[in-house]
Amino acid sequence: MPSQFDLVQCMKQPGTSIGRLCSKCDGKCPTCESMVHPYRLVHVCDDCSYGSSANKCILCGSSGGKNGENLSDAYYCYECCLLEKDRTGCPKILNVGSSRTDMYFQRRRGKN
Ligand SMILES: [Zn+2]
Ligand SMILES: [Zn+2]
Ligand SMILES: [Zn+2]
Repeated sequence: MPSQFDLVQCMKQPGTSIGRLCSKCDGKCPTCESMVHPYRLVHVCDDCSYGSSANKCILCGSSGGKNGENLSDAYYCYECCLLEKDRTGCPKILNVGSSRTDMYFQRRRGKN
């Protein structure tokens, strides 16, 4: 098993927003990157679902086009659900792409 890079996950309390994946990362479990047995829909926290983090792939940060039309919903794999990794918090990877993570965006609960 290759060790994970120094990836930092957000781990904040997930909200109602669904985590999305770009076409490259499509099908990957956000915590173990397994491509098999997608099981439970991924939820991200409010900070990761608005502002500059909105409509970005939660793994690589790539954008899915104007309104995220190229993004698909992310799922935890069955194994991670058994291990309750889906309960540990927002799985968005923070330290990819830009050198600074987005500032905490003010909470806005407009949707849902
Ligand atoms: Zn997994
Ligand atoms: Zn988050
Ligand atoms: Zn991606």
